[in-house]
Amino acid sequence: MMSEKDLSTRLIHTGDGQNYKKFAAYQSVPESLPLYLTSVFSFDDVPSVDAIYEHEAEGYIYTRMRHPNTDAVGEILAAADGGDEGLVFSSGMAAITTSVLSVVSSGDHILSSPILYGGVQDYFTNELKRFGVEVTFVDFVNENIEAYIRPNTKLLYTESICNPLLQVPDMSAISVIAKKHGLLFYVDNTFGTSVVVKPLELGADLVLYSATKYLGGHSDIVGGAAVGRSSLIEKIRRNLVLYGCILGAADSWLLARSLRTLDLRVRKHSENAGKVAVFLEKHPKIEKVYYPGLPSSPDHERAAAQFTKGLFGGMLSVNLKGAEKEASAVIRSLPTIKYVPSLAGTATTVSYAAKTSHRFYKKEELEKLGITYGQLRLSIGLENADDIIEELSAALESI
Ligand code: PLP
Repeated sequence: MMSEKDLSTRLIHTGDGQNYKKFAAYQSVPESLPLYLTSVFSFDDVPSVDAIYEHEAEGYIYTRMRHPNTDAVGEILAAADGGDEGLVFSSGMAAITTSVLSVVSSGDHILSSPILYGGVQDYFTNELKRFGVEVTFVDFVNENIEAYIRPNTKLLYTESICNPLLQVPDMSAISVIAKKHGLLFYVDNTFGTSVVVKPLELGADLVLYSATKYLGGHSDIVGGAAVGRSSLIEKIRRNLVLYGCILGAADSWLLARSLRTLDLRVRKHSENAGKVAVFLEKHPKIEKVYYPGLPSSPDHERAAAQFTKGLFGGMLSVNLKGAEKEASAVIRSLPTIKYVPSLAGTATTVSYAAKTSHRFYKKEELEKLGITYGQLRLSIGLENADDIIEELSAALESI
């Protein structure tokens, strides 16, 4: 017989989250972790919630704090990078800004590599000032960074493979300096991933990611991540909750799924990029190739000493013999390699750092760093390498 309750009440209280208790008692376990599309969790009484807040019981309360799908991705990332714990954020920028703000205060100083993703450079140059935090940019590859450390320096910051010129700093040597001076050392490993290099093993305190890139790997989610030791992660987690920048459940689920194939994908990206770099290095229309896998690269030895054997990542940059006109002509002549101001999807894409990721650098600054208007950055995809080379070869004929 139909329940006495009104239709609207029946629709609301049938098949709801309470079913979870029934499922938990079943013998069957889902092969893939389900997507927990819930903004909050329910409880039978007040002490149950108290116990979770007081760390006397395990459980979830509110999805802005943590939820099963972010915890699952955090576990995968920690296992991949060799950290205690991982956190996932709503973007790479959220991961970086939250992790930095968690360890600096007004009056502190940061030493950073100058060749960085443009958004981070902008944040360091223009935004941190408002909080009384000063940043000095110093070439982490060619200069003695120890000479720039001040009594108020708190943090050393670099990318493992710097965007867009692919320099590789000596992370082991930097971590020795950091330890000697009691500083924290953060490494953005977006271009490398744990498949190519594990900065925590080289002595870094925290590894950061734009998960939008290789970790997600399919150009369908925006996310960020931080992995490190528990004491540091718990400090950052507090601000992740306060600033409200946790990754949503659906994107966390997609990210977990993508991470299952990270090793396979990054190995193939890297293998393809190596072949493309060798082709481009010999091409008469190319002035210079930036790829740490090339024996001619000034970063090759440092990369080989720190990276997984034979892997140098899927990113490379080239200086064309020419400037903006030639760069535009090549971009226009590529039928499947699209102009995409991001990277690390399954498809090969091209970007133009001077006008996208690094567009807010001052012109003189770009020139000083060697980021030019005749430079293209390629994210080498998972297609057949010969097909990528054929398309690039045809496009280069147009200039
Ligand atoms: N770090 C690097 C190296 C990047 O290339 C990017 C974005 O391009 C970021 C961080 C910022 O990540 P997101 O765009 O996910 O905020």
